[in-house]
Amino acid sequence: MHSLAKFARSKMAEIAARNLVRVLRPTARGPAAGAGLTVQRNGRTLTSFSCNDYLGLSRHPRVIAAAVAATERYGAGAGASRYVTGDNPLYDAIEARLARIKGSETALVFGSGYLANLGIIPALIGEGDLIVGDELSHACMHAGARLSRATIKLFRHNDTAHCADILAAARKNHQHCLVMTEGVFSMDGDRAPVKRLAAIAQAHDAWLLTDDAHALGVIGGGRGSAHADDAAGDVPLQMGTLSKAVGAYGGYLCTDRDTAEFIRHRARSLIYSTGLPPGTLAAIDAALDLIENDAAMVERPLMLARRFTDAMGLPPAESAIVPMVLGDPAPALAAAQALEDAGFMIVAMRPPTVPEGTSRLRFTFSAAHTDDDVARLIAAMKMPSLVPRALAHTA
Ligand SMILES: *Cc1c(COP(=O)(O)O)cnc(C)c1O
Repeated sequence: MHSLAKFARSKMAEIAARNLVRVLRPTARGPAAGAGLTVQRNGRTLTSFSCNDYLGLSRHPRVIAAAVAATERYGAGAGASRYVTGDNPLYDAIEARLARIKGSETALVFGSGYLANLGIIPALIGEGDLIVGDELSHACMHAGARLSRATIKLFRHNDTAHCADILAAARKNHQHCLVMTEGVFSMDGDRAPVKRLAAIAQAHDAWLLTDDAHALGVIGGGRGSAHADDAAGDVPLQMGTLSKAVGAYGGYLCTDRDTAEFIRHRARSLIYSTGLPPGTLAAIDAALDLIENDAAMVERPLMLARRFTDAMGLPPAESAIVPMVLGDPAPALAAAQALEDAGFMIVAMRPPTVPEGTSRLRFTFSAAHTDDDVARLIAAMKMPSLVPRALAHTA
């Protein structure tokens, strides 16, 4: 056998021994808006509590119509990077909307949230500088931090005193400093203390970057974590994705004009990667319009998540994400399977997506869920034949 395949096979044996094999399972999402949030897998229709489509906008008729019209008008692909011929006029409209929603001077759209962090962090921070990050920050923030070649120090999750201690000890040894966190944590659903972090960062002349992937469209009246924490003007770098509540694809940064202008010249993931497809841009524009104007829709995911946590006796949801930590991968997989047998799709999250020993069910709530979807989920969670058996596994 070739040494490459032999290497891959032995690494996979290690992964399998730890119950961490991941399977890609063909999943069709649908049907149309108004019929709940369902997916088709293995010929079965399941009610999904695992999509990040928090407002159901990926299926909204106005969003779809806008994407179809732009595709017919401009074609399926962008043709080149934004700096060559890929800067479709829709970018201007979207960046203006994002800036308005976030209350920033301007915004910059990237190919994805992941690409945004890979571009933004190394554009601002380099060798000899310091990055201080929440230990649970998303993989793409860590990836951007490593690309920057700065010194990286992590503080305990949401522990602002620990963050301040690190800055007090280390800030003086570095020229520039970035503090990074998620606004809403993707696997835990809790919120960062944005206002306090902003004050600490400012006191140490550090720049705060919040990743609002799970906050835009859901908290702070849809305007994200800084607004939710009464810190609207206090966060100089607010990034996020256009693939979750916005229902399309892409990433963004909201910031001041000078910083945006500089990042535009230095963010390699923006300069050297093709622009977004026109249909995607039109979908983003239509979806942001709905987020700006439909307050009832924006309130619904958090309202449904709270209904679930109240019914389950869990701490009140702070976002559309509710975790149920089960420990080892095996009980988490068993619980997910039991729920699938009952007609639901709730994906088990395992390391390295979550820390060792914290495998979990991760429920996400969406404005697209009907009241009945949530009532049936609560009933299923209380059936003794279902999840409690999996819970007993860890008790
Ligand atoms: C999903 C996610 C991203 C990546 O965004 P994409 O647009 O999917 O690449 C970044 N940060 C966080 C916190 C996320 O949850």
